[in-house]
Amino acid sequence: MEEVKNTEASTERPLNFIEKIIEDDLANGRVKDNTIVTRFPPEPNGYLHIGHIKSICLNFGLAEKYNGICHLRLDDTNPAKEDMEYIDSIKEDIHWLGFDWKEHEYYASDYYDQLYNIAIELIKEGKAYVDSLSAEEMKEYRGTLTQPGKNSPDRDRPIEENLKLFMEMKEGKYPEGKYTLRAKIDMASPNINLRDPALYRIKYATHPRTGDKWCIYPMYDFTHPISDAIEGITHSICTLEFEDHRPAYDWATSIDGIEHTPHQYEFARLNINYCLMSKRRLLYLVQNGFVSGWDDPRMPTVSGIRRRGYSPEAMKDFVSRVGVAKVEGTVDYSLMEFCVREDLNKRAKRLMAVLDPLEIVIDNYPEDKVEYFDAVDNPEDPESKTHKIAFSKRVYIEKEDFMENPVKGYHRLFLGNEIRLKHAYYITAQSIDKDEDGNILRVHCTYDPESRGGQTPDGRKVKGTSHWVSADHALCAEVRQYDKLFKAEYPGGDTGNYLNDINPESLVVIEKAYIEKDAENAKVGDYLQFIRNGYYCVDSKDSTKEHMVFNRTVTLKDSWAKQKSKLGIK
Ligand code: ATP
Ligand code: MG
Repeated sequence: MEEVKNTEASTERPLNFIEKIIEDDLANGRVKDNTIVTRFPPEPNGYLHIGHIKSICLNFGLAEKYNGICHLRLDDTNPAKEDMEYIDSIKEDIHWLGFDWKEHEYYASDYYDQLYNIAIELIKEGKAYVDSLSAEEMKEYRGTLTQPGKNSPDRDRPIEENLKLFMEMKEGKYPEGKYTLRAKIDMASPNINLRDPALYRIKYATHPRTGDKWCIYPMYDFTHPISDAIEGITHSICTLEFEDHRPAYDWATSIDGIEHTPHQYEFARLNINYCLMSKRRLLYLVQNGFVSGWDDPRMPTVSGIRRRGYSPEAMKDFVSRVGVAKVEGTVDYSLMEFCVREDLNKRAKRLMAVLDPLEIVIDNYPEDKVEYFDAVDNPEDPESKTHKIAFSKRVYIEKEDFMENPVKGYHRLFLGNEIRLKHAYYITAQSIDKDEDGNILRVHCTYDPESRGGQTPDGRKVKGTSHWVSADHALCAEVRQYDKLFKAEYPGGDTGNYLNDINPESLVVIEKAYIEKDAENAKVGDYLQFIRNGYYCVDSKDSTKEHMVFNRTVTLKDSWAKQKSKLGIK
C-alpha cells in the first residue's frame, strides 16, 4: 500500500477549524490579554503513544503559532493507576518532540484543596448531595439514551447531613463505594452526563504526589474543567469522545465563584491501522510479556518509536499531513513509514552490512593485502563527509546475491557472471565450494585489478552491483529486524482478541550480522542506512561497545521484493 501521492509537506496549508476559531477569537477581542493558553493534559497511567503526539503537536503548536502558552497538566486523579515513572516518561517524550512547557508544569492534584472547597460550597447551596446508591444501583437509576433517569432516594438529603457525611468521607470514616458526592443537576436531562454526575468518590490509595492526605478523589468531569478555569486556559482541546461531556464541562465552569470561562473544542483522535493505541491495552502487552517493555521498538509509544529510530521531525511531519479535523478515520500505517523514510533518506549515514553472509574468496587477490575505499556518508547531502571501507581477499555478500542455478533475468552473481562490488572492484564467479551435504560454503571469484573504484578502462558495464564487507575487517553485531507488531489491519477486529493478531515475525533476531567497521562509531540517536537492507539505529538499551545491537527502523521502499516475486525467487 504505497499510495502516498502528496509528497510535499504543506507548509502553507489552509487553517484547520481550531485555528479558525482562535483567529476569530483573537480578532474579536475574546481572548484575555490577547494570549491564547492551551494545555496538554495526559493522565500519568501509562506511556505516551503516537496518538498523543497529535495532541501535543496541536496544543504546543498552537501556542507557538499564536505566541501563546501551553501548559503541561498531569491529570492525576486516579492514584490507583498512576506512577512517577509515567510522569517522568511523559516529560521526556514531550521534550524529545521539541516542545517545552517552561514554568507551566501543573498537576490536577495541585487543585485538590480548591476542588474540595468548591464541592463544600455546592453542598451548601443545595447543588450537590451525598448518595449512598451502589455503583450498580446508580447505573440503574441513570436511565438510558431513550429513557430518563430516576432521582436517587438520597437526592433530597438535608444540606447539613450532606456536609457532615462529605466531611466524614474525607476523614476516612467510610469504605470505598459506600458514598459518592453527586451534583444535583437533572436526572431527566437528554444528556446522560448531566444526570447528577458523580463529583467525588472514596478511594484508599497512596497518591504519587499527595501521598495519603486524601481518601476522596474528584472525578474527571469535575476536575478537568475547573483545572482549566484555574489555569486560565482559553482553548481546551480534546478528542471527540468528550463531545458529550461538553455540557458537563460548561456546567462546571459556570459554578458561582469561578471567574474564568474556558471553552472546550473536540477533534478526531488519531487512529492508525495495524496499531493499538489504548494505554490500557498497551499496559496489558507490557505486563504480560508480549513485548519487552513500554519502549519495545514495536510499541506505538513515543519511547518505542524513539528506540526504533524514528525521528521527532518525521513524526511531526506525519501528524501535520494527517491534519486536524472533526471526522474520525483511520490513517494508513504506510503514510507514517513514508514520512519516516523521507526524513531518514535525508539524514541517514549509509553503511554496508551483510545480514545473511556468503563468503567470497577472490583467488587472484593477494593474501595479506588490504585496500581502503572512500564511501560518501550520504549521497543526498551535498556537504557529506566520506568514510573508509576496507577491502581484502575474503569478503561477504548476501546469500541472495548469488544463485547456483540462476533464473532468467537474474543479474547478480552466478558462475561465469561478472558483477560490481560497490565502491570496489568487478568480480566474476568461478567455482563453488560445498560441504558433504551439498550446501554452499563459499564462492571463488576473480577480480579485475583494472576496475578499481568500480570503473574499467574499457568502459564495460555490468548489470549487478552487490554490497559487501571485508570478512576480516567487519564488525560482527546483532541486528534486530523489526516489523509491525500486529499482522491484522484492525487488531482484535470483530472478536476483540487482539492477542491473536500479534505478528509472530514482528522481531527476527540476527545474532551475527557483518557490518563495515565504521559502524563501531555509531552512537545511540544516530540514523543509519544499511545499503539495500533498510534504515537502522543503535539500540539504546542493549547495545554495548563489546556487543553492538542495531534495530531496523524501517525497510527501504522495497523494489527488490517486488522484483524477486516477479522472477519467482523465494
Ligand atoms: P488512551 O485512550 O490511549 O488511554 P487517553 O485519552 O486516556 O488515551 P490521556 O492521557 O487522557 O489518554 O490523553 C491526554 C490527551 O491526549 C487528551 O487530551 C487526549 O484527548 C489526547 N489523546 C489521547 N489519545 C489520542 C489520539 N489517539 N489522538 C489524538 N489525541 C489523543
Ligand atoms: Mg484518559
